[in-house]
Amino acid sequence: MEQYKMIINGEAVAAVSADWETVINPATEDGIAEVPQADYTDVDNAVTAAKSAFTSWSQLSPAERSTLIYKLADALEAKTDRLTEIESLSAGKPMKLVANGDVPFAIDNIRYFAGQARVIEGIATKEFVSGYTSTIRREPVGVVASIAPWNYPIMMAAWKIAPAIAAGNTVVIKPAPQTPLTTLMLAQTALEVGFPPGVINVVTGGASVGEPLISHPDVRMVSFTGSTRTGKRIMELAAQKVTRVHLELGGKAPLIVFADADIAAAAQGAVVGAYVNTGQDCTAATRILVERSRYQEFLAAFTELAQQVRLGTPQAETTDMGPLISADQRQRVHGFVERAKNDSVSLKLGGEIPDGKGFFYQPTIFCDAPTQSEIMQEEVFGPVVVVNPIDSEQEAIAVANDVKYGLAASVWTKDIIKAWRVASALEFGTVWINDHLPLASEMPHGGFKESGFGKDLSRYAMEEYTIAKHIMFDLSGDVKKPWHFTAFGDAE
Ligand code: NAD
Repeated sequence: MEQYKMIINGEAVAAVSADWETVINPATEDGIAEVPQADYTDVDNAVTAAKSAFTSWSQLSPAERSTLIYKLADALEAKTDRLTEIESLSAGKPMKLVANGDVPFAIDNIRYFAGQARVIEGIATKEFVSGYTSTIRREPVGVVASIAPWNYPIMMAAWKIAPAIAAGNTVVIKPAPQTPLTTLMLAQTALEVGFPPGVINVVTGGASVGEPLISHPDVRMVSFTGSTRTGKRIMELAAQKVTRVHLELGGKAPLIVFADADIAAAAQGAVVGAYVNTGQDCTAATRILVERSRYQEFLAAFTELAQQVRLGTPQAETTDMGPLISADQRQRVHGFVERAKNDSVSLKLGGEIPDGKGFFYQPTIFCDAPTQSEIMQEEVFGPVVVVNPIDSEQEAIAVANDVKYGLAASVWTKDIIKAWRVASALEFGTVWINDHLPLASEMPHGGFKESGFGKDLSRYAMEEYTIAKHIMFDLSGDVKKPWHFTAFGDAE
């Protein structure tokens, strides 16, 4: 089996312990590669390398950093086929999704941040207090520890690494243990195009690697994408040394369909929004709220389309939905389904584990679930949705907002005034009108409430990875400034 090594201080290395972990193909349950099982010593080596690379990397000109990041994007683009194949095999994602979504979007994200490396914005230098000139510097933070989930591995690597290094930081990234391969390929590619050692380091393993990484004394920021539960643990660990945190956590997105909407378009959009990536998407449309007068019509159209979703081997061009990531994840998803059934929530479609190899799960639809039920409140992270009727705009907004999460939502209507009104009332970081899911490198992605704080993508991500510093120059040269008497001596 092929062994992928970690990238630490510019070199491909095994773990100091010499232990290896097998990466599984979730569609076949076969091993596809081995990666090192890191421990504290490897984490320490990676953080030490990142720390020593920081001074020279942060002092390069923005243009020099930008040029290297563009080269990385070009070199990754040249490896598109291999990246697509590995991502599809290890994450169980349909090849058509990876080839037309994840990989080209990750490359676009990297190019965007290569450009952003040269855009440093802020308040103009000025005498805001008379006799003093104030100016702003935006400083990189230092060593950034990035921790990523398994649902969009190459995209998460791009989102975490590119803005951090564009801003002059150095990075130690820990990909999810299920899907480390394309992150390792990205870091290897960075070395091939001439990145200095230590700027991008990758350590592999699970929580036993993540916790010492977050707690390392030389880590200045933690950028985490994953579940809300783990996010809370990360905040606790980071609190010990007041380390800056950036958290992109779970979601439970509403998709609101008003009676005046194009029902065919809403049903089509809901199938894509709900079942993309086997529902393992933090913005997945999982709570579909339809105005009662069109509810039955929508439900029939949506159920009909959901039955047409083609499960199968992710490498086949005709496959719409691959497996869940692991046996554990499938058991977790099925647990939510079983509990909803036991709570007498009406099951319209699916809810069964298919026979055979691979961690597949059927597209599943529940209806008429109480707002406070578990299936309406908790993130399932699988192909499971609820379709509920609502009676008014006010009820739609109230039910949509009645969750602890706040990552994304969509509104389906032909009434432009209603669309604006509802979009502004929704407590979610992204609101789509008449579609669900698309993102742009130039626009921020991030949550309200327990979906976390801080933004990925866009120039707002650059702000996350820099600290504003105020420098104030005295222009008088006087020994005793006019205001000093307020703390010492008398007024003159
Ligand atoms: P997870 O929280 O289980 O794991 C995420 C990462 O954290 C993995 O690398 C894991 O090894 C690591 N980790 C786990 N426990 C840790 C600990 N105690 N200390 C340090 N690291 C630890 O999440 P997951 O199951 O891999 O991913 C699914 C979750 O990610 C979902 O909740 C989903 O909504 C969320 N997600 C959010 C976004 C977003 O942008 N908001 C994007 C993708 C995924």
